[in-house]
Amino acid sequence: METSITSYTGRFAPSPSGHLHFGSLVTALGSYLRAKSQQGKWLVRMEDLDPPREMQGATKHILQTLEDFGLNWDGEVLYQSQRHEAYQHLLDAWLSSDQAYYCSCTRKRITELGGIYDGYCHHKNVSEKHSAIRLVNTEQQTLFYDELLGEIHVPKDFASEDYILKRRDGLYAYQLAVVADDAAQGITEVVRGSDLLTSSMHQHTLFGKLKTQAPKWLHLPLVVSPDGRKLSKQNHAEPLDRMQPKPLLIKALAVLNQPTSPDLLDFDLESLLHYAVKHFDMTLIPKSNQTQRQN
Ligand code: GLU
Repeated sequence: METSITSYTGRFAPSPSGHLHFGSLVTALGSYLRAKSQQGKWLVRMEDLDPPREMQGATKHILQTLEDFGLNWDGEVLYQSQRHEAYQHLLDAWLSSDQAYYCSCTRKRITELGGIYDGYCHHKNVSEKHSAIRLVNTEQQTLFYDELLGEIHVPKDFASEDYILKRRDGLYAYQLAVVADDAAQGITEVVRGSDLLTSSMHQHTLFGKLKTQAPKWLHLPLVVSPDGRKLSKQNHAEPLDRMQPKPLLIKALAVLNQPTSPDLLDFDLESLLHYAVKHFDMTLIPKSNQTQRQN
């Protein structure tokens, strides 16, 4: 008997700032198929890092929607709101070893600089009060590899910027939390939308600071409306119709350019996903964004 031992661990990491929409389904499905087609684990992490931007009830609604679509995750859901201690622990270690520093620069100043921070507060002994924390970014790496898109080049000033790890308002920054969690959860490959492609460069280098091997990266095409805008919660994308999992999954498979079958709609949900896992072919995924009308 052929045994396949793999240690692939992937994840889907929604922010509860709204309900899942069709673009989120494409990302969730893409990461699910990639993990399951390699007999891997697929984890769900709730990125509830920013309470003011949270929508009441969204966490529960997102998890129920994933269940309605048959996208069952492995293990327990990890909540970033319960990980503050781990994030602070990393920051304290970096602050005490000059790998991070307090910064009191205003957004106005950074805008005047053209948007890229110039390291002004490093070595200035800025008070901790009302300050952000920035990384001492010693990386000059401007290139990383995406499993689908190939080599990704990032402008040098962006790649080497001392970016924010904790905001002035006391909230932990996405870049810090996501890397701390991907490392702690043993994620071997990050599959997500290509809107986060440049963030991945920053995260890639942050893994070096953690002395952890960075995961592989795979960025999926975005679903954009006919006027070219990304379907997103901010753009008021319609929530997924939880009564229509099968047609919407088939539509998401089409966006990912995956094999479908004319009788797929007659399958039960589990068999449909089983078919999709079995026929999943990463090389067929389009490299450019896909235009879709909502519903
Ligand atoms: N929480 C992010 C979002 O909903 C995704 C983060 C990630 O996949 O790393 O856009």
